[in-house]
This record gives sequence, C-alpha cells and structure tokens, in this order.
Amino acid sequence: MLLQKKTTPKTAAPDPRLRDIQDRLDGLLRITNTLFDFLRGFVLDLKELKPDRFRSQLDKLNKLIGSDEKIKKIELGFERQKGFINEYIERQKKYVAERERELRDIIDLLVNAMTDLNTENREFYRRVHSQSEKIEKISHLDDIKRIKNALRHEVEQMRDIVDLKADQDKRSIDILAQQVEQLRNELEKARTKSMTDPLTGVYNRQALDEYLDEKVKRASRLGEEFALLMLDIDDFKKINDTYGHLIGDRVLMAFAGKCRQTIRSDDFLARYGGEEFVIILEGAGYRNAMKKAKQICETVASAKYTTDQNHSGQYLSITTSIGVTVFRKNDTAESLLERADQALYAAKQKGKNRAVGRRS
Ligand code: GH3
Ligand code: MG
Ligand code: MG
Repeated sequence: MLLQKKTTPKTAAPDPRLRDIQDRLDGLLRITNTLFDFLRGFVLDLKELKPDRFRSQLDKLNKLIGSDEKIKKIELGFERQKGFINEYIERQKKYVAERERELRDIIDLLVNAMTDLNTENREFYRRVHSQSEKIEKISHLDDIKRIKNALRHEVEQMRDIVDLKADQDKRSIDILAQQVEQLRNELEKARTKSMTDPLTGVYNRQALDEYLDEKVKRASRLGEEFALLMLDIDDFKKINDTYGHLIGDRVLMAFAGKCRQTIRSDDFLARYGGEEFVIILEGAGYRNAMKKAKQICETVASAKYTTDQNHSGQYLSITTSIGVTVFRKNDTAESLLERADQALYAAKQKGKNRAVGRRS
C-alpha cells in the first residue's frame, strides 16, 4: 500500500468530527488504491504498448495522491498528469482492434485460399471445404484469445491436409513424369524407325532428303565442303537370280556394313533405293572423296560373302561402282544427286568396280 496514514498528535484530544473526516479520507484512499490496481491489471503485457512506462506513471500518480502534500498541489499534479491514463487506454483499445482486424483478414485470406485450392480430388475437396467452414466460424468468436487458439488449431489441421495433398500430387507427378519419359522414348524410337531402312539399318531415302537439304543450306551459307558418293552394286540382279532374294538381302546388309566401316562416324550413309546407296563425306574435297570412294570399291571387292546361313564354306564376291561429286556454289540437293548419278553411270560404262568423279 502506497498511502501513509496521517499520524494524530498524541497530546490533542481526539475530535470526533476530525476522526470521521480521517476515516472517510482513509476509505477514499483505499478505494483509489484499488482503482489503481484495477488499472494496472488492465494493462496488456505487450512490448509495443510500453506497459512498464505506463505502470511507473501510474505508481507516481498513485504515490502523489496518497502523499502528505497539500490537496491543492495533489489536485494540480493529478490534473496535469491524468492525460496519460486516457491516452494509454485509447492506445491499447486501438491496438487490440487492429490485431483483431488483422486476425479476421487472415481468416478471410485462409478461407479464400482454400476455396481457390485445386479441388479436383473429391476427398481433398471435402476436407478443405469442411476445414474452411470451421475457420469461418472462428471469425464469429468475440474473444481474441479464443480466436487465436482456435485459429492455430485449425491452421495446423489445414497444413496437414495440404501436406497430404502435396504428397499425393507429387506421386501423381512422378507417375506422369515416368509416362512422359516412356512416351518420349517411344517417340524417339518411332522417329529413328521412320528414318531408318529396316533391312540394312542405315538411313532411308527420307532421312537422306532431310539431311542433304540441311547440308546444302549450311554449305551455301558457310562455304563448308562436303562430297556426295552414289554407290550401286554391280550386277546385283545376277546375285538374286543365282542365290535367291534372301541371300540378296543378306548381301545388301553386309554391303551396308562394309560401307559403314570404311567411312567416319560423322559421315552419312543412306540407302537410296534397291541396291543403291548414298554417302555424304563431311568436310571432304574432291581428291579425298575420290580416295575414299576407291577405298570403298577395294574393301567391297576384297570381301567374301557367305551364300548360306550355315557358313558351309560357299562364298561370293561383289563389286560396286561409285559416282563421286563435291558441293559447288549454287548446287541444290537435286543437282548434286544428278551429278553423282551421271558419274555413277560413267563408272558403269567404263566397266564397273570403280569410282568416277565429276567436279561440276
Ligand atoms: P548394274 O551393275 O548395272 O547396277 O546391274 P544390276 O543388276 O545391279 O542393276 P539392276 O538395276 O538391273 O538390278 C538391281 C536389282 O536389285 C534388281 C532388284 O531385284 C534388286 N533389288 C533391289 N532391292 C532389293 C532388295 O531389297 N533385296 C534384294 N534381294 N534385291 C533387291
Ligand atoms: Mg541399280
Ligand atoms: Mg546395280
């Protein structure tokens, strides 16, 4: 208790009226102290509101009221200082109102967010819906503490639901990603298949057309060199006639293999049709292309091809003629193929098993 009781002089005889006044004064001071205690209890322990400053101001005022100072001085002091009490009460009211508004905003936000959630999954939709209803109900609570606790609980629940959904989504995405990967592989296989000759495994005519167009464009733009070889197996009809189509097919496969072995990995080999093939030699000039073509002729001619599947010792030989040309300015795919074909024709005319070149 901050008030000090007035001491009555021992010598003077107690005046009953004075005693009555003293009792009233003591009583009023006790009431005042209690009111100050109520004020202290009203203060929320929130740093932002500076409650300690307010409490010490209250203590000072409380002390002044209970002091032995002249009543005029006490009254004057009270008048001067009382403003801070009202100020504080207003500040605290405003603060609480603001926090409450923020909480309600959060609730609105949560409810809206939940409504916007992807609710394709029925079970998820049901859970989100009931959860948003619960959160909406919280906004009807009047007590800020109850709002806070209820909200915390429901937000935790909602987080669980969302986590579960995220897990489910991840699983679905993983499965979808696998399916996409599978489809991509199949597409790649289909693409490769559509570009490949099924018998020999080298590129087909369509792949050649695409590749050659691109090659011609690049060469025209950048002045890159390349050579085109047109190969035709000599007297292939005889092979079919003598050994049958199946053996003919196997010879075609072996021939493609020999060509592939002789050229570089970045050179391009395609079956042009029947027993005719085209090779594009990257970065090759005329001399090198002729050299390579002769090498192919020799490799093909020196190889022995089995005539039966049991490898019983019967072999056949084949030869090939090759028309050679190189890219020239203003060439098109057609003009290149045409020139190579003319060179091939010349090789056949000259007796086959040889390479003949046409520069232009
Ligand atoms: P040349 O030396 O003048 O080229 O004579 P050639 O017999 O090779 O030429 P021709 O064009 O008269 O015959 C080509 C033969 O190639 C005819 C055809 O039956 C055969 N042929 C084309 N495609 C295939 C195939 O896929 N498999 C088999 N086994 N034979 C094929
Ligand atoms: Mg032919
Ligand atoms: Mg032929």
